[in-house]
Amino acid sequence: MSTERAVNVDDSEVAKFNALASRWWDPDGDFRPLHRINPLRLDWIRQHVQLQGKKVVDIGCGGGILTEAMAAAGADVTGIDMAEAPLAVARLHQAESGADVTYLTSTAEELAESRPASFDVVTCLEMLEHVPDPSAVVKACADLVKPGGRVFFSTINRNPKAFLFAIVGAEYVLGLLPKGTHEYEKLIKPSELDSWARAASLDFRASIGLHYNPVSRKYWLADGLDVNYMMAYQRPDDE
Ligand code: SAH
Repeated sequence: MSTERAVNVDDSEVAKFNALASRWWDPDGDFRPLHRINPLRLDWIRQHVQLQGKKVVDIGCGGGILTEAMAAAGADVTGIDMAEAPLAVARLHQAESGADVTYLTSTAEELAESRPASFDVVTCLEMLEHVPDPSAVVKACADLVKPGGRVFFSTINRNPKAFLFAIVGAEYVLGLLPKGTHEYEKLIKPSELDSWARAASLDFRASIGLHYNPVSRKYWLADGLDVNYMMAYQRPDDE
């Protein structure tokens, strides 16, 4: 075993998000898809857990689109990220909106060491496909949540259809996302995410696909996890 402290951060991924940060809150800019899907994913989370008064941590929060929305729903939210520029944008936006969020520069693993079992809800959306070892982030999320609490993940499946829709279509044909946002080898099959979550003793609760129609330009949630998807887990109650 190496004695070196391994940090589960891909510097080139963090650099990508730092470079794009100023556009984070432009509803028609590089992060337009995140703005468009935000009400859908927030609704889905709220179908599973009541956010009012809950302690929530948003892992890989970026500029804070979901983070602020959960605070507006009454949660006491902490947002963490390893990219400084998006966090700076998140703090500026918060100063204007008055959202009640605490932003920290931290990895999920570091926070899980200092504040284990401290949150009612953990969200980790559109982040796992940007880290070297996503299973370690899943484990950290499981450590961060209180017994009985909920953990939500979202990411992109890895198969030919996902390559065609999420990379070729979204980045190269439709220009929904900047080219190079996602790398095929880093995409994650639902079975992989599920096995990491189960290894971290999380119980599966629900999954849903996130779909996009390029003609109507509409997003919606429905069965079918073959491209973008979300999964909900629960940490078992202590005996
Ligand atoms: N979760 C947000 C942003 C997704 S973009 C949303 O869905 O709206 C992915 C984010 O993950 C970026 O802000 C990036 O800086 C962050 N990230 C990448 N690697 C990380 C790591 N190891 N630890 C924490 N955040 C990370």
